[in-house]
Amino acid sequence: MYPGRFEYQAPAALGEAFATLDRYGDEAKVLAGGQSLIPLMKLRFASPRLLVDINRVPGLDGLAEEEGELRIGALVRHKDCERSSLLGGRWGVLGDAAPQISDPIVRNLGTVAGSLAHADPQGDWGSALMAVDARVVARGSEGSREIAVEDLFEGPFTTTLEPNEVITEVRVPDPGPQAGGTYLKLERKVGDFATAAVAVHVSFSNGTVRRAGIALTGVGPRNLRARAAEEALAGATLDDEAIGEAARLAAEAAEPRDDLRGSAEYKRNVVRVFVERGLRKAREV
Ligand SMILES: Cc1cc2nc3c(=O)[nH]c(=O)nc-3n(C[C@H](O)[C@H](O)[C@H](O)COP(=O)(O)OP(=O)(O)OC[C@H]3O[C@@H](n4cnc5c(N)ncnc54)[C@H](O)[C@@H]3O)c2cc1C
Repeated sequence: MYPGRFEYQAPAALGEAFATLDRYGDEAKVLAGGQSLIPLMKLRFASPRLLVDINRVPGLDGLAEEEGELRIGALVRHKDCERSSLLGGRWGVLGDAAPQISDPIVRNLGTVAGSLAHADPQGDWGSALMAVDARVVARGSEGSREIAVEDLFEGPFTTTLEPNEVITEVRVPDPGPQAGGTYLKLERKVGDFATAAVAVHVSFSNGTVRRAGIALTGVGPRNLRARAAEEALAGATLDDEAIGEAARLAAEAAEPRDDLRGSAEYKRNVVRVFVERGLRKAREV
């Protein structure tokens, strides 16, 4: 199907984008990689009056470590993350998630920020970035604010962003020198959305867990954080018993539903097994 009629603007500066978004309010949509928005428009699930294409705005494509913090600009594509050496090691959960997103065509165009703004409960970045305590920088004509990724998602495909706000950057805090983790995803075939997936990120201090981040994909109305599991691990030695208990708590936090990809019970068990595997990998650092 073809999309409905729409106007198109490609501003060369953020200020111009903000002014247009102020004028059109929720009748306008930001266009980044177009990998979610364009299919929605073709299906007529979305019919914005105006697309504000931010691809010509300079300075939004930076992927760098600054003062220990990882900064991912709004035009950083999935493929940039897949190829960046920055996303290994202590940010291994991000490096492991990137190549598991869809296929190379989608990864060439789709952006990390666009994925967060789209708020698909099956989006992989939502969980991976929640596990590392990332925040987004949301900017508009009235200024800028930071929103924890966890607080960005309200429900399926809805966020706490205002219609006139643009995510300009994602910021990932420094986890310290001893940190590791991974992203484990079960998909029916390569390129599919997750049947269930798990992001695990652990930082250590003096041999015990300083902070654990565990987030779940595809098993709830939004990416879910397994808080009880994280809290059970804080200060603990990451031994088999602690891992087993955290995996059990994470499975309890999942809110899966039966669907074509599998039964709720099956998905909950995948979460348990993946959290166990993820934590075992994290303790190898
Ligand atoms: C066939 C296929 C398979 C896919 N498989 C997966 C998968 O396995 N895992 C996965 O996680 N994703 C998957 N995706 C989604 C893909 O990752 C998209 O790239 C991503 O969800 C959206 O990023 P985008 O840059 O393309 O955003 P767009 O499509 O341009 O925009 C998506 C939404 O975000 C808003 N938006 C975009 N950028 C900003 C911004 N900077 N500030 C504010 N709002 C913004 C837009 O207005 C729109 O509402 C798949 C997509 C396709 C087509």
